Amino acid sequence: MASTEPASTAPVTPGAAFETEAPNIRAGRLDPAAYIDVFDDLHPPLTRHEAFVEADRCYFCYDAPCMDACPTGIDIPLFIRQIAADNPTGSAKTILAENILGGMCARVCPTETLCEQACVREMAEGKPVKIGLLQRYATDHLMAEGGHPFTRAAPTGKHVAVVGAGPAGLSAAHRLAKHGHDVTIFEARPKGGGLNEYGIAAYKTVDDFAQRELDFILQIGGITIENGKTLGRDISIEALNAGYDAVFLGMGLPDVNDLGLEGEDAEGCIDAVEYIAALRQSDNLSTLPVGRDVVVIGGGMTAIDIAIQIKLLGAENVTIAYRRGRESMNASAYEQELAQTHGVVIRHWLQPKAVKRNEAGAICGIELEYTAQPDGKLVGTGETLTLPADQVFKAIGQAFTAHPLAGSGIGLAKGRISVDAERRTSIDGIWAGGDCVAGGQDLTVASVQDGKLAAESIHRALMRIPDRMDGFAEAVLAGGGAGQASQMPHQSPSADPSAPPQAR
Ligand SMILES: Cc1cc2nc3c(=O)[nH]c(=O)nc-3n(C[C@H](O)[C@H](O)[C@H](O)COP(=O)(O)OP(=O)(O)OC[C@H]3O[C@@H](n4cnc5c(N)ncnc54)[C@H](O)[C@@H]3O)c2cc1C
Ligand code: SF4
Repeated sequence: MASTEPASTAPVTPGAAFETEAPNIRAGRLDPAAYIDVFDDLHPPLTRHEAFVEADRCYFCYDAPCMDACPTGIDIPLFIRQIAADNPTGSAKTILAENILGGMCARVCPTETLCEQACVREMAEGKPVKIGLLQRYATDHLMAEGGHPFTRAAPTGKHVAVVGAGPAGLSAAHRLAKHGHDVTIFEARPKGGGLNEYGIAAYKTVDDFAQRELDFILQIGGITIENGKTLGRDISIEALNAGYDAVFLGMGLPDVNDLGLEGEDAEGCIDAVEYIAALRQSDNLSTLPVGRDVVVIGGGMTAIDIAIQIKLLGAENVTIAYRRGRESMNASAYEQELAQTHGVVIRHWLQPKAVKRNEAGAICGIELEYTAQPDGKLVGTGETLTLPADQVFKAIGQAFTAHPLAGSGIGLAKGRISVDAERRTSIDGIWAGGDCVAGGQDLTVASVQDGKLAAESIHRALMRIPDRMDGFAEAVLAGGGAGQASQMPHQSPSADPSAPPQAR
């Protein structure tokens, strides 16, 4: 069995991985008192009054476009109406019936490109209903009340193995447990939560929310987490397939992409995800090393998150260098603006060319080449510039590691696990979802939906419930063709048994 430890599942020792002698990198750049509020809640929760006012802005649209734009298909107009009727508990149940991580998604979803972008008020006035904040209002209320809103079905005697306790694995585990199956989650890291615990920016999830939500999910019962158990090192895929009634793989993307530059092993050239994990696990932020001049390479959420967080920790100059134009960045316009309002400079059409080191071997700058895209193909123009840099953060994406699956015969596509619409892999008895599967959106909410779809498919397989007729009956009733109705891989295959009635 391979024993290589993927970058993101290695233990996190806050600060230790980045120890340095470089003069411009130092810990404790802020006044000690400043660390207390430096990562305050990005969007403070709505008060009860604010929630009523916001809920009243909703038109409770029939065929609501916001609902179609939600990857987990939450009945948004219904939950908003329940808030307007002063029933936040019922509202939270509506949300959690489709998305058991609705509390985290309310904090981290890029709503500006999902439900709020689709809201008719956004179309009409450029001011959508604040769906994310309303979702948080309801789910926070329910969690503060304590208890768990769902009960388990009678035990089925079936036992499912889940690999990875991230959003995909937790969503699958909860739905399976609710159906009465027992679930064991094998998780490489000491804590569950996946990137909710180790990756999401600190200002999006304050007050240890990832662990509180994990505890909330486990309250359903029937789920055991074995931390520190790595597939490919402590357990094999063959053993799981043979020893359990079904297997769900939700391993995320444990490796990171390199820049491919000479000198990138230099002190101060850091993987952004690793640094964020250390930051999230640190109980003393003043120990984290922070450069004076910092350059971030990348154009996605991770690039924005590390840039803002290192700026908040006291870096003087933070620049994001991205190789294409503004509109091609994976980070939304809102996130780009957020970085800029925190004092981060974003420069486009620049690609890294060489890491500059001083005599001591530490980074002192990065050479970047201007790029252009004539005829749609990105090319370097040959012109260069060098930015001073004590720290260079690599944020150019993460990668799947297939070695834990070696010998299993599981099919891959584009370097990730290949699955069908029900999240079945090419091997009988094994399902997969979340970031580790091909064709996903690499978002928390999309991973939750994958886990849910896989759990429903596993449940049907274990209980020998006949497959749906691929929408044939619904299509005939609706007057359409069968093919038409089957083209909806992201919709729930079967209604949640504990979902509240459709009150609209
Ligand atoms: C820095 C960063 C910031 C992000 N910010 C946002 C955001 O603001 N909003 C948003 O919607 N999305 C965000 N994302 C994306 C989001 O976090 C992911 O899409 C989501 O976490 C994927 O869930 P997952 O369960 O598939 O994988 P993960 O969350 O990665 O969980 C996978 C779990 O599997 C475990 N594991 C891996 N290999 C093994 C193994 N061999 N054996 C056992 N366990 C294993 C890992 O330790 C981990 O706990 C961000 C991503 C990053 C990197
Ligand atoms: S689209 Fe906007 S107004 Fe219509 S139901 Fe959704 S949130 Fe309400």
